Amino acid sequence: MLDHNAPLRAADPEVAALIDRELFRQREGLELIASENFASRAVIDAMGTPLTNKYSEGYPRKRYYGGNEVVDQIEQLAIDRAKALFAAQHANVQPHAGAQANFAAFMAVAAPGSTILAMALPHGGHLSHGHPVNHSGTIWRAVHYGVDPDSGRIDMDQVRELARRERPKLIVCGGSAYSRIIDFPAFRSVADEVEATLLVDMAHFAGLVAGGVHPSPVPHAQVVTSTTHKTLRGPRGGLILCGDPLAKAIDKSVFPGTQGGPLEHVIAAKAVAFGEALTPEFRRYAGQVVANAKRLATALSERGLRIISGGTDTHVMLVDVRSKNVTGKRAEELLGQAAMTVNRNTIPNDPASPFVTSGVRLGTPALTTRGMGEAEMVQIADLIDRALTDPEPASLVRIRREVEQLSRRFPLYQSVKKGAAA
Ligand SMILES: *Cc1c(COP(=O)(O)O)cnc(C)c1O
Repeated sequence: MLDHNAPLRAADPEVAALIDRELFRQREGLELIASENFASRAVIDAMGTPLTNKYSEGYPRKRYYGGNEVVDQIEQLAIDRAKALFAAQHANVQPHAGAQANFAAFMAVAAPGSTILAMALPHGGHLSHGHPVNHSGTIWRAVHYGVDPDSGRIDMDQVRELARRERPKLIVCGGSAYSRIIDFPAFRSVADEVEATLLVDMAHFAGLVAGGVHPSPVPHAQVVTSTTHKTLRGPRGGLILCGDPLAKAIDKSVFPGTQGGPLEHVIAAKAVAFGEALTPEFRRYAGQVVANAKRLATALSERGLRIISGGTDTHVMLVDVRSKNVTGKRAEELLGQAAMTVNRNTIPNDPASPFVTSGVRLGTPALTTRGMGEAEMVQIADLIDRALTDPEPASLVRIRREVEQLSRRFPLYQSVKKGAAA
């Protein structure tokens, strides 16, 4: 429990106890979900502040409410740090989340009804990139490219062919389960050829870009969208970067286009996170995230699990679990029983349904934040392999105990008092 939560515990013991239980769950297990991380205590503290009380529709020095002289400085600080971190001409720090950042950015550059070209969700894209169940799939006419079935990598010839045929207004790259470095200059040349805008959604790998261990899309794309809570390790939220020519259109599309009042408590936490990401310590962190992912991928393939595309350049990997005679769904359940949190994921050309799947997606950002290194990755690959190979209840209990022992060696929110459930 965060120690400033003593008033919460007194006022609402029911909610406080549930927060305690969630902290306990995060502490005791191994968080392998590639899109998750552990924000610093400073980031969390910035969110739990009276900034949440303030209405500040508009932008610094151009607000529709009075009393924003302090908030203006907070938001400007977040903007300036985001621009410095990513060497961007313009930053909008108001999107409530990644999906909202995408919606606002898409609306700014592609009229409703026009065509967009993005990576298919089952190949590692994202729902907000024109999937039929997302409104982006009805507002725009979405065409999707995939990965080459043999290499597991984006096929730039297919992208170029689709772009020439479909003439999209907007081309999107960047996904949620793609482990390779995307060729941003090649995407830009396709976009230029068909006079489309290139948008890179770096929601997953923004922290690796910030840490200097992944090429930056900023020099190549007219618009870059991101989340702030994945590898970037900030509060749950969104971010849009662009060059000066699109700055006005992007700002108008976020507010008043799609959102109301910004969450200035979250924007303060974004400023804190951007400040952290500007440090040499964060560069070391980002490098370790990638080294850990490479080690984990190698150790899993040594144990007979196929990694899509043969490995990873980033923090994420997609693992085909069929060699262990389990589905993605079953693997997620078994690993969950052993206190290892993963998500099932379709693999390219998956014969199983999206609800069952043949794969799991794993990532190292959260484990690395806890201080784990390559030796622990080998140990975790072994625990994963044992849970999938020998899923008897007794052995899952033994594996769970080992997971808990490993977790305790890398304490999480140590300065935080043990809660009621802990
Ligand atoms: C996570 C993610 C998003 C959405 O972020 P939310 O904050 O969950 O809305 C968008 N695009 C990509 C590529 C993502 O991985």
